[in-house]
Parts: sequence; structure tokens; C-alpha cells
Amino acid sequence: MKIIAIDVMRIAMPFTSGRENDPLNAGGGDAYNAASRQLTRMETLLVRLTTDNGLLGWGEGFGHLTNSVTYAALVGPVGRFFIDKDFDGTPEGLGQLMDQAQRAFHAFGRSGAVQFALSALDIALWDLCAKQAGRPLWQLLGATRGEIGVYASLVSYDNDPLQVAAHARRAYDAGFRAIKLHETDYAAIAAARTALPLDAQLMVDVNCPWTVEEACRQAVALRELNLGWLEEPIWPPDDLAGLARVRACGTPIAAGENAQGVQGFLQHFTAGAVSVAQPSVAKIGGISAALEVYRLARAHRVKVVPHCFYYGAALMATAHLVATLPEEIQLEVPYLQWPEPLYAELDFTPRMTLPLTPGLGFAPDEAILARYRIAHTTLNRETTTC
Ligand SMILES: [Mg+2]
Repeated sequence: MKIIAIDVMRIAMPFTSGRENDPLNAGGGDAYNAASRQLTRMETLLVRLTTDNGLLGWGEGFGHLTNSVTYAALVGPVGRFFIDKDFDGTPEGLGQLMDQAQRAFHAFGRSGAVQFALSALDIALWDLCAKQAGRPLWQLLGATRGEIGVYASLVSYDNDPLQVAAHARRAYDAGFRAIKLHETDYAAIAAARTALPLDAQLMVDVNCPWTVEEACRQAVALRELNLGWLEEPIWPPDDLAGLARVRACGTPIAAGENAQGVQGFLQHFTAGAVSVAQPSVAKIGGISAALEVYRLARAHRVKVVPHCFYYGAALMATAHLVATLPEEIQLEVPYLQWPEPLYAELDFTPRMTLPLTPGLGFAPDEAILARYRIAHTTLNRETTTC
């Protein structure tokens, strides 16, 4: 088959999260972290490949407030590379095509917008592979379970102990037994722990705020709260020796969403930096790279729990990937409420049944997609000729 068109779209969906003063449609925000309380819309970036035999393949690239940069990469050099490319629709053919692309673009960063764009295209190619095979992706990847657990990843409630406790409890009451906070103060984290029954697992993502020394102090203090993990505790996040020192303080450490490609994960593993590896399918190089990280993690006996603060094709891709991991590994979802769901799986529940339709099973509502689309470019042979 030949890739004859690539649609690149930016979507900005309004959401509510139960925050006080959380008006729907309040518009935009200037925070660069997706969990920030300043945000009332969440952006995503979708790609849709069209082939000459009539198949559509969906993908998603990171991310959020840097989508304009990834968009420029996709409608420019990265998208152009894939137009008119022949692709046999097999995982082997996909591997060869992505290897060509990774080699062609290697000088433009092993992480960053070009890599995020390649991630989106890799996901879309896997969607095409599974559609051509007539199988849901999880089956093509060798998974044997069609249902996975889901954990609730809360937005930031600005370290307000009352709000943090109330929203952690809200997720528990909705049936979630694993809940992740985006807070940094001990008091807020402890309030959530106190509000949750003992059968709830609590994780905390602090998004790289502390020196190694401060992170060690925090990790020691947090030991008594028995966290599932403490995520990205130090600045800079690629100080792997520092991360290993924090990990030695007794609280499990999770990281990897900002790793520099597959080799970056290998460096995490050899440094003993993480208890939990978190490859992000829309950043690391797509499904192909995620599978490679899983293989390395198994060899180094490190647990994998993928990063997934997405709501497009990358969320579905991560769901299929989670099905290939051990039963206890759950899918992260951004615990938000949407005014209208882009597709059925966004009505989050503690268990997700994976689609039985061929491919990713990502089928966004076209009317909703059009309503919240803020940019759209179609690449084809004519538009990419220069
Ligand atoms: Mg994180």
C-alpha cells in the first residue's frame, strides 16, 4: 500500500476536573504542564494516514502546549518523508520504514518535536498493520487479555489538602483503586492518603521540582505513606545518578516520560535510577520504541507502567500495549470529565474492555472533532511538492 495523504490536526477539548473556580470553556491557559490548574482545555495532536487501498491509520504525538511545534514538524519535513512511501502493512515492513525515518531524522534530536512527530506516525502505521491483518492491535501484539485495569491520574489541586483529599476520594468512590496525584506538599499527599481506604494504592507525580538532597528528604518523609511510587522527583530529570540516590532512600521511584529515546531508558536501567519505567508512546518513538523499552525493562527486571496523559489515539495505543504487560499493570488516564466524549472509551471506568475491531479501534466522533479542531492541514503529493 502507498501513503497518499496525511491529515494533521490540533484539537483543544474543554474539560472539568471538579476544581473550585473551574469554569468550562474559560479558555486556554499559559501553563506548560498538562496537569496544571491553569488549564481548562487539553490539547492533543492527531494524525490520520490515508492509503491507496482505502485504509485509515490514526496516531497521536506529544503534546499539549507544544503541539504547535510538533504540528510544524508533521506538516513540514517529517510528514513529507512519509508521503508516497510504499508500505506492505506488516510489522516487519513497518520496522524497516521507521528505521529509515529514524536514521533520516536522527540529527534533529533523540527527543523533542521531531521525535514526537515520528511517534504519531509510528502509531498510525501500527493501526494500519492491524487493520490490514483484520485484528485488534492488542492481538497483533501478542496480548491474550482483552480487558485491562485503569488508574486515575488526577490534575493538580494546587496542594490544597481539602481538595486533594476530596478528589482522591471521588476517584475511589468511582471504583478506582489506584490513584495518582500531581501535588508536591507533604500535607496534601498525606491528606489524600488519610482520605483513602487501605485498599487504595496512591502514587505521586511531582514533575521534577527538587534538588537531589531535597528529593532525598522528601522520599524519606514519604516512606510512612507507603506510596506506590514517587514520580520524577528531581531537576534536571536526566540526572540519573541523582535519581538513583533518591531511589536508595526507600520510596519507589518512577520516571522515563522524558527519557531520550530507547537508549535513554537503557541508561536509566544501567544506572539503577528507576523502580518503575514510564515510556510515553507519543514521545518515545511510538509503539515500536515502546515495545523495545519493554524488552529492555524485562531484561533488567524493571517494572513498566506506561505514561499516558493523553485522550486521543495515543491513549488507545497505550491501552493495547498495557494488555501485553503483566495483569497488574494498569492504564493511566487523565481523570477529567469532558462535556462530550470524543469516543466511547473516554467515559473512564476502572476497567477498560479493549476493542475487537481491527486496528486501534480509535474512531473519534467527526462532529466533535470538527467542533474542537483548532488547526488542520492535509498533506498529499501536490501539497508537499516543492
Ligand atoms: Mg508524569
